[in-house]
Amino acid sequence: MTTPTDQSPKYKRVLLKLSGEALMGDKTHGIAPDMLEQYALEIKKVVELGIEVAIVIGGGNIFRGINAVESGIDRVQGDYMGMLATVINGMAIQATLEKHGMYTRLMSGIKMEQVCEPFIRRRAVRHLEKKRIVIFGAGIGSPYFTTDSAASLRAIEIEADVVLKGTRVDGVYTADPEKDATATRFSNISFDEVYTKGLNVMDMTAFTLCKENGLPIIVFDMNKPGNLLKIVKGEDVGTLITM
Ligand code: UDP
Repeated sequence: MTTPTDQSPKYKRVLLKLSGEALMGDKTHGIAPDMLEQYALEIKKVVELGIEVAIVIGGGNIFRGINAVESGIDRVQGDYMGMLATVINGMAIQATLEKHGMYTRLMSGIKMEQVCEPFIRRRAVRHLEKKRIVIFGAGIGSPYFTTDSAASLRAIEIEADVVLKGTRVDGVYTADPEKDATATRFSNISFDEVYTKGLNVMDMTAFTLCKENGLPIIVFDMNKPGNLLKIVKGEDVGTLITM
């Protein structure tokens, strides 16, 4: 991490977590082309600053393991289906980033060499050093985890400066702002306060991984144009969670 000035960005290497649901846009499931376009253009602004970008994308717009059980499919099988959904989303974002002239690599936690590289940490770091955007698909490759956990784990492995969790709300609030009009946003908050106040940032596995490794998280509204760029420049957007 460097000290921000007008010229230099605050972060050198970031891990951006996008939820699968965000890709739906106004649809009830699947991928909305306008969301792909919007995200690709937001990411491009950051890449053009020379920032190294890794992406973890969810799969909730296609399949969630937890919902499989209702269909008579066991949880583990469902989780693998969810992981495959994240690869589909990863391929979609990869194609859109490349259409806009960016260089990318898709790496998967489950081997599928016809469509993407297997995840190899040293290779991922090398891609980032060469300014390729690295998209991590298939979560961590194991059932009973989420893509938030994958985001935390991969961020630690590649020594990212921060996890940027793009959501529909613009940060962490005292209560759910979609339900409570009096809720206020935290600009900064510590990991311990998030625990003690019982706030919902990520699932506990993902959150604890960040806390134990001193990896800051910023929760922000990815749908507001310019937010991602502002964050990497060190502006006060969203909620910064630190030690
Ligand atoms: N999943 C998994 N292991 C992982 C990551 C994901 O089993 O390491 C499965 C899990 O079933 C999850 C689904 O993939 O429900 C899609 O990911 P997630 O729900 O995290 O996506 P998001 O909510 O971000 O769209």
